[in-house]
Amino acid sequence: ATEFGIDEALKQLGINEVNNGTSTGSDWFSSGEEISSYSPVDGQLIAKVKTTTKDDYEKVVTTASSAFKTWRKMPAPQRGEVVRQFNEELRRLKEPLGKLVSYEMGKSYQEGLGEVQEMIDICDFAVGLSRQLHGLTMHSERPGHRMYEQYHPLGVVGIISAFNFPVAVWAWNTALAWVCGDVCIWKPSEKTPLTGVACQNIAQRVFKENGLPEGISCLINGDYKVGEFMTTDKRVPLISATGSTRMGKIVASKVGERLGKSLLELGGNNAIIVTPDADIKMTVIGAVFGAVGTAGQRCTSTRRLIIHDSMYDKVKNAIVDAYGQLKIGNPLDETNHVGPLIDKDAVANYNKALERVVEEGGKIIVEGGVLEGEGYESGCYVKPAIAEAQNDFEIVQHETFAPVLYLTKYSGDIENAIDLQNSVNQGLSSAIMTNNLREAEHFLSVAGSDCGIANVNIGTSGAEIGGAFGGEKETGGGRESGSDAWKVYMRRQTNTINYTTELPLAQGIKFDL
Ligand code: NAD
Repeated sequence: ATEFGIDEALKQLGINEVNNGTSTGSDWFSSGEEISSYSPVDGQLIAKVKTTTKDDYEKVVTTASSAFKTWRKMPAPQRGEVVRQFNEELRRLKEPLGKLVSYEMGKSYQEGLGEVQEMIDICDFAVGLSRQLHGLTMHSERPGHRMYEQYHPLGVVGIISAFNFPVAVWAWNTALAWVCGDVCIWKPSEKTPLTGVACQNIAQRVFKENGLPEGISCLINGDYKVGEFMTTDKRVPLISATGSTRMGKIVASKVGERLGKSLLELGGNNAIIVTPDADIKMTVIGAVFGAVGTAGQRCTSTRRLIIHDSMYDKVKNAIVDAYGQLKIGNPLDETNHVGPLIDKDAVANYNKALERVVEEGGKIIVEGGVLEGEGYESGCYVKPAIAEAQNDFEIVQHETFAPVLYLTKYSGDIENAIDLQNSVNQGLSSAIMTNNLREAEHFLSVAGSDCGIANVNIGTSGAEIGGAFGGEKETGGGRESGSDAWKVYMRRQTNTINYTTELPLAQGIKFDL
């Protein structure tokens, strides 16, 4: 870690004092028990962060609500200018932040930098958006009337994020919410609290330099109990929550009880369909990266390959060969392909999945296992595994957040493959590998994939910020990032103005007095 420069990175991110085991951050948001952040890379304690108590939370939400009153009045393009400055800081601190993401979460340094790049990209998008928060005008049916709709900021937006994209998901939400005129309270995953502190330090500095009040960006720390302060709080009109489907169901019901809005980005169970017209080389790259990249800990990771029986052996052998070349180890070393899982609980889930698939009648064709010895001291490094399985096995229906790939055969037409692909509860990402136009178009048609993301000749994993991101069914239905995802962060108002001296009623109703 020292060679990698993590101490220097923490210092540049303004959290050097944390390394001694003391807490950090603005005093007003954290006075509770400490949570320790251990790196899955080498098992070392990086630092401790204080959690947010109920009293602290009250201070946070009051500060945020009062900041909203100032922020909402600033013209949107000026808010965009503040986001532009925040983005300058992200560009300046890309390397240290990328390093911290990589060390605290366990993804490769390249992916850590990629994640910060996503933050930069969404900020660019948000700056342009700050001049394009368009409403519509409509023709009124009444003479001398004008009708239009406009979007106003919502208020305090609560962001709950997962460990696997510890900083990008926050930025996807917060950059849009800020230009929309909202203020944000972020509860990062308790597994990656330090990246949260680092981002908050950057944001707070930029708001301060602009003479803006504290509270436009807020951080609260802790586990689900701290998340529940927000989900049950009617002062927080929108909760954007990213994480497991289990969490999403609880959050949706808590927010639903008070008729708040929720934006849910939950688990996936993503498949690639490999048809007789697939390019095998592209299929192997897409499938292997999709299944083992970030050690299978992306919501868009490839979990299932649905392969036509005429191609099955060829594809299977090529993928098994590719798995034989994978190097597993320290993700900070660029020559490794696969890093660690986030913690030992994740390792236990991985082991359980491999046992379960065999119990259900599956066959392991690339053996898994937990690595031990030098370089694997954290106990979080596992071998990517492949099993042949049926789509309706209970374990295949379930998202295991680890590098376990299931191979399934289909025969006959593309419809059969699409049936299998859609026969899971989740609906995030999907892909087809084919050079056949009819198959590709069928897959994208109304009778095709039921997912929020459907790709042709690309894997399931990863997405660009320009499109709306999210999925259907138990993935939660939310959309964030590009396209018109900004609308969820605003409230819509329809306005009708009468510029005559008469008061005609709608639908020609007469009400003579
Ligand atoms: P998780 O559900 O364990 O935790 C996610 C966040 O929710 C954490 O901050 C946690 O503290 C909080 N939380 C948990 N229960 C809560 C409750 N009852 N009330 C309020 N907050 C609560 O998920 P994880 O292990 O951190 O992340 C992995 C999961 O996230 C996977 O299922 C993955 O597919 C999903 N994910 C989805 C997307 C997407 O965009 N669809 C993106 C990234 C991750």
